[in-house]
Amino acid sequence: AIELAGVNKWFDTFHVLKDINLTVKNGERVVICGPSGSGKSTVVRCINQLEKHQQGTIRVDGVELTDDPKSAASIRSEVGMVFQQFNLFPHLTVLENLTLGPIKARGLSRKDAEEKARKYLDRVHIPDQADKRPVQLSGGQQQRVAIARSLCMEPRVLLFDEPTSALDPEMISEVLDVMVELAQEGMTMVVVTHEMGFARKVADKMIFMDAGEIVEEGHPEHFFTNPQSERCRKFLSQIL
Ligand code: ATP
Ligand code: MG
Repeated sequence: AIELAGVNKWFDTFHVLKDINLTVKNGERVVICGPSGSGKSTVVRCINQLEKHQQGTIRVDGVELTDDPKSAASIRSEVGMVFQQFNLFPHLTVLENLTLGPIKARGLSRKDAEEKARKYLDRVHIPDQADKRPVQLSGGQQQRVAIARSLCMEPRVLLFDEPTSALDPEMISEVLDVMVELAQEGMTMVVVTHEMGFARKVADKMIFMDAGEIVEEGHPEHFFTNPQSERCRKFLSQIL
């Protein structure tokens, strides 16, 4: 489980996260939406310790994130992250992208790491792309490699930050389909996205952020049909 309690963060004098309280239970899917600049990426980056918060606590499976570099290392090995811009290593093949982490950080043998990599390439439906370089793949394929790369680390939680917003429209569904499959297998997921069809299908909880605050949260059924705040209503009317 992930627990944020009273989390505040500033970039210099700019108060970017205001008193964020959020719990993601094991096996739960939480979808975060909200206008540009509302702090969605900052929340997930704090969970993954790519950013530091200044007040409040963040716990992952009961362990509090601290300034200790060991804390960052151990969290990143349990919490996978998929970014908008895939972030694959361009000079490595797909297989090498997938085996690097398990070999370096997990101490797997090359053979075991490759076996795992092929298993997860299969899982994201691109078993035949192992020997290509990222540039030889479509955007949708690259993002599925990025998801497979995260899965190779056997994370307990997967964070997604707008994983489909850099993709051409025809490739969005192949990535969302993989994410739906992961959700159905019980993966704990925090997903920043404006793909509301996806959210309706898999979310246990919807979060709406605006200006650094969680303005509204609720089950998708209520969230979409009966938003409580004017800000959320307005946002939904713009994107739906
Ligand atoms: P988007 O939908 O555009 O991705 P977001 O909700 O993910 O937006 P964040 O990226 O979390 O928003 O940014 C929240 C606010 O913090 C924005 O005003 C942004 O300009 C600011 N911000 C983000 N990163 C930094 C940084 N490293 N230094 C200073 N300000 C930052
Ligand atoms: Mg963002």
